[in-house]
Amino acid sequence: MSTKYEKTDVILIGAGIMSATLGTMLKELAPEMEIKIFEHLDKAGEESSNEWNNAGTGHSALCELNYTPEKADGTIDIKKAININEQFQLSRQFWSYLVKSNLISNPEEFIMPIPHMSLVMGEKDVNFLKKRYEALSVNPLFKGMEYSEDPEKLKEWVPLIMNGRKSQEPIAATKIDSGTDVNFGALTRMLIEHLQKQNVEVNYKHSVTDIKRSSDGMWEVKVHDLDGCKMEYHKAKFVFIGAGGASLPLLQATGIPESKHIGGFPVSGLFMVCNNQEIVEKHHAKVYSQAKVGAPPMSVPHLDTRYIDGKKSLLFGPFAGFSPKFLKTGSNMDLFASIKPNNLFTLLAAGAKEMKLTKYLIQQLMLSNEQRLEELQEFIPDAKLEDWEIVVAGQRVQVIKDTDAGKGTLQFGTEVITAADGSVAALLGASPGASTAVPVMLDVMSKCFPDRFKEWESKIKEMIPSYGISLMDNTALLEEIQASTSEVLGLNEKEVVHN
Ligand SMILES: Cc1cc2nc3c(=O)[nH]c(=O)nc-3n(C[C@H](O)[C@H](O)[C@H](O)COP(=O)(O)OP(=O)(O)OC[C@H]3O[C@@H](n4cnc5c(N)ncnc54)[C@H](O)[C@@H]3O)c2cc1C
Repeated sequence: MSTKYEKTDVILIGAGIMSATLGTMLKELAPEMEIKIFEHLDKAGEESSNEWNNAGTGHSALCELNYTPEKADGTIDIKKAININEQFQLSRQFWSYLVKSNLISNPEEFIMPIPHMSLVMGEKDVNFLKKRYEALSVNPLFKGMEYSEDPEKLKEWVPLIMNGRKSQEPIAATKIDSGTDVNFGALTRMLIEHLQKQNVEVNYKHSVTDIKRSSDGMWEVKVHDLDGCKMEYHKAKFVFIGAGGASLPLLQATGIPESKHIGGFPVSGLFMVCNNQEIVEKHHAKVYSQAKVGAPPMSVPHLDTRYIDGKKSLLFGPFAGFSPKFLKTGSNMDLFASIKPNNLFTLLAAGAKEMKLTKYLIQQLMLSNEQRLEELQEFIPDAKLEDWEIVVAGQRVQVIKDTDAGKGTLQFGTEVITAADGSVAALLGASPGASTAVPVMLDVMSKCFPDRFKEWESKIKEMIPSYGISLMDNTALLEEIQASTSEVLGLNEKEVVHN
């Protein structure tokens, strides 16, 4: 029996924020492109992109202390913070373009304004925060950042955190009102719905099980139709592996040289969630603190106001943990199945180097709810267990690869791996993740469609006016873009906090 191959221009694996963003951009730039999406689950945005599986922070380095490390000479390195902020400005502009063009609507369902704060305790961290504030607040990207060590001022900013606080330790915070809470699940669903209207075929309950190069240079994608219990074969000139944590095994299946010597380190997570409106109403900010000694950057504790389904709630966490699964809905065999002869030594080297991290994650996993409450009480002194429930967060699969820093180095960023001929790309890693989906997908398109990308440039500038321009160095454009995107996305409204 001959096998039937259905041909298309582009296959997107996974219906998370990354595939949704890439598909939307491609359809704007090349409407004639035929695109198919295959999604293992029965809905879009159900894994890491789901609103309950991530922290919903519009990462722009306004409050995340791990983006501004202290250098050996005691000064603060703000390079990464600037880069992440500039990247988020690109995402804001693209979302704003989509709303203005009526391609998606009701921006309040996916983005809300919320102050971003950093809060630290103890003399050492207070000194660090002050230096961070001094380095950032003079930069136009961080305009409006305030700093205070005054407990009365902090009470105004974060009453829930300050009320009942007995500790005499020095405390300080920065606050900037231009932060956002992003419901990446809602945004993913809106984008996928829009794509369906553009005749993009979205196949739910279709799991990709293999990807192979065929003799005509196209990619053959083997898909398991879970409902029909049958195998399908599809061919495309370009495949994007946007399978979240499960991208690594699919990348390995392609066999491209760029897929070798890479491993994945899965980190699970838990959030504590409060829906008691009396408590929720006393807090109006995303408040990030310092990671504990020995803890990885992804386990920085934060207390966040979230807007989900039109309701406000508080999320605290994430508490990191260890699980061998690559997806929340994955299998306990994921990690073991990703071990190949070509990445064995990379993984072993990482294992030897990251013993402390593994131990930390296992300890975190063993925490009882009472112990988690103790961590929460460092933020909210009078927090009670009965007001908080535990929610399992998404999985983050951190990339392990050989770098100049040595064999088996753990990476904490988001990484795009592309084949030399640009015919396949995979997105690996987590932070800053969904917030930077737009710049990351622009990067994918520039690498995978180099000839067409030149032709697309004027449309890209129409969608994202600051593309290719440093906003930090163009204050007038920065102000114009911030004003216009705030207007279109409805980010100007302010809310009153009840003490
Ligand atoms: C605890 C936590 C907190 C986070 N906080 C933030 C934050 O505050 N801000 C931020 O910007 N980012 C945050 N992130 C990161 C962000 O959530 C991710 O970067 C982003 O959601 C990844 O999107 P994705 O589309 O690549 O993956 P996903 O959303 O995981 O989507 C992948 C999709 O692929 C599907 N799939 C997998 N395998 C297959 C297969 N074989 N065939 C077909 N389909 C398949 C899955 O079912 C899934 O729907 C956080 C992540 C976690 C886990």
